[in-house]
Amino acid sequence: MKYVGAHVSAAGGVENAPIRANEIGATAFALFTKNQRQWTAKALTENSIQDFKENCQKYGYGPNQILPHDSYLINLGHPDSDKRKKSLDAFIDELQRCQQLGIDRLNFHPGSHLREISEEHCMNLISESLNYALEQTKGVTAVLENTAGQGSNLGFKHEQLAYIIDRIEDKSRIGVCIDTCHAYAGGYDLKNEFETVFDDFEKVIGFKYLKGMHLNDSKVPLGSRKDRHHSLGAGEIGWDPFKKIMQDPRFDGIPLTLETVDTELWPAEIQQLKEWAEN
Ligand SMILES: [Zn+2]
Ligand SMILES: [Zn+2]
Repeated sequence: MKYVGAHVSAAGGVENAPIRANEIGATAFALFTKNQRQWTAKALTENSIQDFKENCQKYGYGPNQILPHDSYLINLGHPDSDKRKKSLDAFIDELQRCQQLGIDRLNFHPGSHLREISEEHCMNLISESLNYALEQTKGVTAVLENTAGQGSNLGFKHEQLAYIIDRIEDKSRIGVCIDTCHAYAGGYDLKNEFETVFDDFEKVIGFKYLKGMHLNDSKVPLGSRKDRHHSLGAGEIGWDPFKKIMQDPRFDGIPLTLETVDTELWPAEIQQLKEWAEN
């Protein structure tokens, strides 16, 4: 079974996200459980939590159909220990919010070395932060998102994600989300070398760790190391790899969500993906 949707708005409260997802014909969705550009947020109210759970039940969204995204400010590999601690506290808060909402996974960007420390050192810090955060929480899997490798962001190579996973004590609570735009911009040619790219993913990381996908076309060419999403079929990648994903059982049972630029197109994009999943 394929679960397809988009990163919907949680404006007015997280309980509105499943309503908006249902409105666009989605069978999966992503959301921010707090303002993604601020460090702190008010705690979720009992009402909000209750309504979120009720709406998810009403519209048929189980935990493997929901992939929240954490705040853009968080950097678990920050070279400065005070700033890393601030990120770690915010990340633990995000994990706890998921726990409260009955969500079993949280998507995040691995981290950035800011050109102050080596890649390896930064990845060691990320692993340490994750081990601590997982120990402080329960029931939520931390899902590393591959990046486009823009600036000093790590996680644009399968080997980097594998390096971090290797150092996680509880492997049952670490996973990966592959963003197709980031993969392509990071140098993985899923347009012309679909099988090779995902064979490499299986060999280096393993599909057992795949907990979600972000389906985005790319405004920028292969390997350009920039993060510029485009609507499906409108960018450098084209429709073909998305059809392949929808017809490949290795992508079953996980949230596959759009972060494409034109929200007006979401219902049509979702409809097209669903049709391919059925045929
Ligand atoms: Zn992301
Ligand atoms: Zn993404």
